[in-house]
Amino acid sequence: MKESFDIAVFRGDGIGPEITDPTLEILNALASQGGYTLSFKDCPAGAAHYAQTGQSLPEASMQAARAADAILLSAMGLPSVRYPDGTEISPQIDLRKALNLFAGVRPVRIFPGQKTPLNMPAGKEVDFVLIRESTEGLFHTQGRGEVTPDEARETLLITRKTSELLFKFAFNLARERKEAGRGPGRVTCVDKANVFRAFAFFRALFDAEAANHPDLASDHAYVDAMALWFVQKPWEFDVLVTENMFGDILSDLGAGLMGGLGVAPSADIGLDHAVFQPCHGSAPDIAGQGVANPLAMILSAAMMLEWLGLRHDHPAMVADGARLRAATEGVIADGRVLTGDLDGRATTAEAAGAVTAALGRA
Ligand code: ATP
Repeated sequence: MKESFDIAVFRGDGIGPEITDPTLEILNALASQGGYTLSFKDCPAGAAHYAQTGQSLPEASMQAARAADAILLSAMGLPSVRYPDGTEISPQIDLRKALNLFAGVRPVRIFPGQKTPLNMPAGKEVDFVLIRESTEGLFHTQGRGEVTPDEARETLLITRKTSELLFKFAFNLARERKEAGRGPGRVTCVDKANVFRAFAFFRALFDAEAANHPDLASDHAYVDAMALWFVQKPWEFDVLVTENMFGDILSDLGAGLMGGLGVAPSADIGLDHAVFQPCHGSAPDIAGQGVANPLAMILSAAMMLEWLGLRHDHPAMVADGARLRAATEGVIADGRVLTGDLDGRATTAEAAGAVTAALGRA
């Protein structure tokens, strides 16, 4: 069994390094007890790196990412540092495209005790996963849109190849969740098939994949209705799968339901590589103060352990991932050691320390 794993680490910009340090400490502690080794390779990249060197994603960092077993990324980009065309530095999007990370996995969890703008009926919990296609859709012409003085054009692309991989991934995830007792085994295709031919195509490919999984349920929803249902009845969903731009918007809505970006983890997964990173950006407004919430980054690291463990058939890593998630959720539910974004007063170090303490009790 593989026991040693190379992790490419992008510490990134803004609060990135502040939330990376305690996350790596927690991972090291878990690995030393779990009988596996995590070797972290630092990968310079991002807006500050671009400002210093003229390169946002150096070839050496790209190579380290390709060679690694998994990639852990905090946040990159700074509004004050831009390419000559005015767009922001976002190597995380370049990585998604270069490594063909088609499945953006965005779990949405709300459990008793968690701060949420929703009025949760007694006895209800939210536990669904939004899968955002992350390499095409309306981001296809990103940075290449045509703009004339009179009109602007971007092209939405849906391909059979990527959609088939995406839907297969979604049904497999629904099966894994069902087997783990976390969902009924249901996948919902979120689209706009009533208006756009491209989405009718997307839905037809979804239905074809659904037919291969008679043990799992499947249905469809229009994206506008889904935005409403996120607020009205989010406890009804299991696995949702959607196009890139729709997923971009819905995943921030999901983070809002969970109490904010500071607790929203994510993974971008392809056939050969995966990047794990919090949903939030580099939060330059609070960088350097030691008050950033590290929990979204820690939850992303938990997803990484589970993914590595499942991929390499390493049950201790899968168990550690689940333990780390549960410990972090415990800190959120307990509510005593939370950072300012969750109306608490804890520092980054104190919030991460609370997770370490909860792991010790688990
Ligand atoms: P991007 O476009 O790069 O995703 P963004 O414009 O959505 O970034 P963020 O950097 O995510 O912006 O920050 C949005 C707001 O949320 C800011 O006020 C920021 O301070 C806050 N925020 C984001 N992440 C955290 C965190 N981990 N802890 C505390 N506050 C955060």
